[in-house]
Amino acid sequence: MEEFDVMVVGAGIAGVGGAYHLSSQRPDSSFVVLESQDNFGGTWWSHNYPGIRSDSDLHTYGYRFKPWTGPPIATADEILKYMGEVIDENDLGDHIRYNHKITSAKWSSEKNKWFIEATKTDTEETHYFAVNFLWMCQGYYRHSEGFTPDWPGMNEYQGQIVHTETWPKELDYADKKVIVIGSGASSATLIPAIADSCEHVTLVQRSPIYYGTGRNSDELAETLRELEVDDEWIHEIVRRKMLRDTSIFMRRTFEEPEIVKEELLTGVRDILGPDYDIDTHFTPDYRPWRQRVALVPDGDFFKSIKAGQVSVLTDEIETFTESGVLLKSGTVLEADIVVAATGFNMNVLGDINFSIDEAPLVLSDTVTYRGMMFTGVPNLLWVFGYFRGSWTLRSELLSDFVCRLLTHMKSKEAKRVDVKLRPEDEDMELLPWQDPENFNPGYLTRAMPFLPKSGVKPEWHHSQDFWEDLDEIPNIDLDGLEFVYSQD
Ligand SMILES: Cc1cc2nc3c(=O)[nH]c(=O)nc-3n(C[C@H](O)[C@H](O)[C@H](O)COP(=O)(O)OP(=O)(O)OC[C@H]3O[C@@H](n4cnc5c(N)ncnc54)[C@H](O)[C@@H]3O)c2cc1C
Repeated sequence: MEEFDVMVVGAGIAGVGGAYHLSSQRPDSSFVVLESQDNFGGTWWSHNYPGIRSDSDLHTYGYRFKPWTGPPIATADEILKYMGEVIDENDLGDHIRYNHKITSAKWSSEKNKWFIEATKTDTEETHYFAVNFLWMCQGYYRHSEGFTPDWPGMNEYQGQIVHTETWPKELDYADKKVIVIGSGASSATLIPAIADSCEHVTLVQRSPIYYGTGRNSDELAETLRELEVDDEWIHEIVRRKMLRDTSIFMRRTFEEPEIVKEELLTGVRDILGPDYDIDTHFTPDYRPWRQRVALVPDGDFFKSIKAGQVSVLTDEIETFTESGVLLKSGTVLEADIVVAATGFNMNVLGDINFSIDEAPLVLSDTVTYRGMMFTGVPNLLWVFGYFRGSWTLRSELLSDFVCRLLTHMKSKEAKRVDVKLRPEDEDMELLPWQDPENFNPGYLTRAMPFLPKSGVKPEWHHSQDFWEDLDEIPNIDLDGLEFVYSQD
């Protein structure tokens, strides 16, 4: 049994950032990062479909402490290189244990510790750890499998079905007829990357989504680089500009959704031309930003459609056939490969079996404290980033919070911290974790019954607003009545 003050779960962008902040803000805390994959990177390591890239700009998705010097939208390889530099430059490598899949976490109130079991994915051995604080940077979806609907006739199909999340590296799609099912950032990224090689690609989508079609470059960053301004300055200035631009855009989607909608559709129309049926294929029936807007840098996805390499059908799968799919409209499509770009299965707390003093943890019975801690679950912080903004913006705010909380506990000689509803919160109406009217992708809807409850008061609400978090999280009163500490 190895002992540490803190265990970070996961070496994705949140976990590596957490390790950096912990080692710089709390150099005396001992910590270990356990990662079930065989490398760091999380999302950027597990996904390897052609063309994979970010849809946030890297000035805000990158860390605040390490300048991003490339184009705003980055490939997985570029993000991995950046993260690798963070690990090397800050000597974090020795803290990270790869191939360690955490299977169970048991809290003991007697010992004030989490007892962790991790299975080595390469040798099947079990390793045991005891830690005082668990920092959950497990991301939000299961890396081992994507979500594939159970379509009728799938077993009859003689071709190959693959999911974007588990793309076989050796998949040969050259000169093949390919159907991609599902609209979203993944399909819009994948399609232009394979369209040149394939005989033809058909995107079958149930309903349209919004796309942004800007250039993958930032004028201000380019000018500052021409002026030979330091990378640190450029990163900070462009980061602030990106934050301001995103916040203006988000506000406009609420205040003038029709104008924003028209702007987005004009970007698409400019590439596809006036004769393309944009109403059917690219005009969603919801206001922009209710679901993430998929960025298509330099309009590459639409250029593949314009070039005739890609067709789009807004329709539904009736059934698979031996040689392809039959759509509800009666259209029959032949395909050598069918790609499911149909989303995720949510991974709630890393698919770890949690128990508190021998009782299994039922997360849906808890209430979330600002989307980062849960009532009845001591010494644990959960990182869940922004649906619409860059994930890292929130993960870094939470990194500062964990470090501040640990310092506060040390000053009080506390071994345990819980969050608890205050007397004035007892009658508060409890709501689902997120408001489905505000954001409603499939993975979230499917997982909602397993997620914690929230309340209407800011303390018990999981904000998805960076500016609100920026105001509130650094100023949380750690001696407020919602925090309960114990020295024993
Ligand atoms: C293709 C794609 C593109 C995306 N682009 C963007 C974008 O541009 N901007 C944005 O903000 N978001 C984007 N996202 C969302 C993205 O998941 C988050 O931005 C971010 O990568 C999450 O980082 P993370 O470190 O919290 O989680 P992850 O990247 O999911 O990493 C979590 C790590 O924890 C490990 N782990 C989980 N459970 C356990 C366990 N039980 N034991 C040990 N290890 C465990 C996993 O193996 C994984 O490596 C994208 C997602 C995808 C799939």
